Amino acid sequence: MPYKTTHNKLRDLYTASLDATLGSNQAAGEHVAIEADWLADLPNRYCWRCGVTTGLGSVTKRGCARCIDTKLPWDSLTRLAAYTHPVEPWILQMKFHKAWHWATWFADQLAQVIPPQHERNVVVPVPLHRLRRWRRGYDQAALIAKRLAAARDWPYAPILRRTRATQPQSRLHTQQQRRDNIRNAFACRPRDLTGWNVWLIDDVKTTGNTLGQCARLLRQHGANTTHVAVIAVADPLVITPPD
Ligand SMILES: [Zn+2]
Repeated sequence: MPYKTTHNKLRDLYTASLDATLGSNQAAGEHVAIEADWLADLPNRYCWRCGVTTGLGSVTKRGCARCIDTKLPWDSLTRLAAYTHPVEPWILQMKFHKAWHWATWFADQLAQVIPPQHERNVVVPVPLHRLRRWRRGYDQAALIAKRLAAARDWPYAPILRRTRATQPQSRLHTQQQRRDNIRNAFACRPRDLTGWNVWLIDDVKTTGNTLGQCARLLRQHGANTTHVAVIAVADPLVITPPD
């Protein structure tokens, strides 16, 4: 089915469910009108390794100018968009204003763009620390991952956990501070991932430190390949989203 057609069907389904949830108030109508014409980035708009926005034809099989000489702990990255308008306010609503229906919608978009080149896939969310999850009331990466797993009929495996609370990365200013903040902050439940292709899910990639820590753990537990899938990629030189 053509991507645009699938997108429109999803949009109609989403509009129907949103109407059912929120009624026909004006705010919901405006909200749907904005996202109705939105499409995820095509893969040629960003680097398949590090996720930054690139010019057409400027990414090679070894990555883009920014990452070509860098070793990355994951095998590929899929994103829906750059962390900018209109996706930025949608993500902020999802994370900080209990608008968790965005997680469902984002997951359905991801399910459309994740390439179907592998067998034995499993979906793993980047974990939130239990205290922050308790304060927020939900874990948006887990919501996205669970819905994505259901949409693709893949197992959902929340096998990563945070071993200690960390400061929000957005409050730290240097790369070194951010690396130190999350060093050894994650653990993987004893699972043998040998032969599995893991899809590691988060809402936003900024420096990639958190995703990198998680991806290394998954590799240590035998993952055949590890693929990052995020809603948006922020350029840390331009903007640091709140986390
Ligand atoms: Zn790159």
